Amino acid sequence: MTARIIDGKAIAESIRKELETRIQRVKSALGRPPGLVIVLVGDDPASEVYVRSKLKTGEDAGMRVHLETLPSSASLEQVLEVVKRYNTDDHFDGILVQSPLPKTLGKAAEQQVFDAIHPSKDVDGFSPISAGLVSQNRSGFAPCTPAGVIEMLERSGIEMAGKHAVVVGRSDIVGKPMAMLLLHRNATVTICHSRTPDLPAVTRGADILVAAIGRPAMITPEFVRPGAVVVDVGINAVTDPAEAERIFAANHPQRLAVFKKRGTVLVGDVHPDVAEVAGAMTPVPGGVGPLTIAMLMANTVKAAENRVT
Ligand code: NDP
Repeated sequence: MTARIIDGKAIAESIRKELETRIQRVKSALGRPPGLVIVLVGDDPASEVYVRSKLKTGEDAGMRVHLETLPSSASLEQVLEVVKRYNTDDHFDGILVQSPLPKTLGKAAEQQVFDAIHPSKDVDGFSPISAGLVSQNRSGFAPCTPAGVIEMLERSGIEMAGKHAVVVGRSDIVGKPMAMLLLHRNATVTICHSRTPDLPAVTRGADILVAAIGRPAMITPEFVRPGAVVVDVGINAVTDPAEAERIFAANHPQRLAVFKKRGTVLVGDVHPDVAEVAGAMTPVPGGVGPLTIAMLMANTVKAAENRVT
């Protein structure tokens, strides 16, 4: 079997198109487009890439996206000060603080910063209030990545009700809300993590398998029931030649060639060989990633609409 490849870019594009009319309506009602502020602390190269992509996508969609940067030497108080300022700034509907924050800010910094974002502007959906609303299936802001996965499944005609969904990963921003959103679509959900014994035996029971682990190509064909839908949330930059050989040498010479040319390659948590077993599968890149940004835009438009009504 060769899996149907789910085109995340195309689905994200249709979501962005649908937002155009709503953005126009916000403009007429508020006299300005929906506004998003992105707070970037420090100079993590991966974060800079993500932020650039969010800025471009938002601006292309006709929204106002403002980047507020702080040096890596910024204190937690300074970051909280910026969040508080934008909480009361009526020009902005959404606030996103790019994760991860510099380690120097301490372990609890992210929680404190996410706690400080006003729930009406929490378009990333990371605050405990947003998490509670998602858990109770009430209207609020669901974290963009799991919300994007749901959109992707729905728009690809993949039935969730009555299916067994297995989510590998239990982080607050992906795994847990993913499980909740699947549960609210009437899937029977199992959550796995690093202490789950005999993981392949559990994942082989999945009709829908979501991998949100952060380990390159960990989910190999033996983890997958033939015909299952496999959603790959992972984004891992592989830079080790031996690892690239392990993943690509046998069956994916073209991707190995890309690695040899660039010295790095993006790999999901799902091994590319899984395409031979799965019924449908999301690619990396071009799968869940574009949906995450599209849902950030959708959440920001929703935050702006909430101000109108
Ligand atoms: P975290 O590191 O916060 O969580 C990883 C989870 O995977 C943990 O629950 C951990 O278990 C579990 N895990 C780790 N190793 C294993 C293992 N060997 N077996 C089973 N479970 C394991 O990561 P995130 O949730 O933030 O992100 C997951 C991946 O998704 C990353 O690759 C990240 O880059 C990517 N990502 C992609 C996005 C996108 O837009 N496509 C957006 C956000 C993230 P335990 O809790 O026991 O430690």
